[in-house]
Amino acid sequence: MAVNRPKPLVAGNWKMNGLKAAAKELALLVKAVAGAKSKPRCDIMICPPATILSLCAETARGSGIKLGGQDCHTEISGAHTGDISAEMLKNAGARACIVGHSERRTDHGESNSEVKRKAEAAHRAGLMAIVCLGETAAERSLGKTIKIVGQQLKASLPEGADHKNCVIAYEPVWAIGTGKTPTVADIAKVHGYIRKRLIALLGDETGMKIKILYGGSVKASNAKELMGISNVNGALVGGASLKAKDFLGIIAAY
Ligand code: PEP
Repeated sequence: MAVNRPKPLVAGNWKMNGLKAAAKELALLVKAVAGAKSKPRCDIMICPPATILSLCAETARGSGIKLGGQDCHTEISGAHTGDISAEMLKNAGARACIVGHSERRTDHGESNSEVKRKAEAAHRAGLMAIVCLGETAAERSLGKTIKIVGQQLKASLPEGADHKNCVIAYEPVWAIGTGKTPTVADIAKVHGYIRKRLIALLGDETGMKIKILYGGSVKASNAKELMGISNVNGALVGGASLKAKDFLGIIAAY
């Protein structure tokens, strides 16, 4: 398959990390991007906790750095104590929302169909959905990676998905926060498969344009190699997105 290079996206997922003071890291990122000799060759996004989304939106205003939520409810509003709707995230300054992160699938038992409805809720609110997929260590050791990823993709992909409203993030569960990464050949195989399935499900043009991010222990030292793999159109970064210096090292891979 031909090498496919839509404009990459490097998105940081801060997870349940960050009090108001964490906006200072975003301010450092904004400053570094503004002061750089040339414009970044990738889109940059930070997904902070919802409690500081508005503050981060203020901090990033005018910088080109986009903000995203980490999860959303399927409904617009209502009796859902503790939940946050996609519309609320949009109202707080988000442009996108991660859905189906493995920590949501594991900690909250989210199914593919729920992930799909969340992605559709993100679209309803005008947010881009970042749909996460990935096999567990056990599934991998049974040789089921492609099967699991294929099932998750088909069942989690929202109706009307296209390159403007949808990004796929392949994140092997066993690589998240562990310092382990798949081999270049393994990532190329899974991303190539996702690309092929996207084309089969959505047609040539849309299927080729949808970004497929890799996530799982991406850091400055491995970013260049990982981001150079065919059909890897950026990264979803956890731990290494918390400090501006580390995250800038990943952005510099482009
Ligand atoms: C993540 O949770 O999306 C992730 C990729 O985490 P880390 O980069 O810390 O492995």
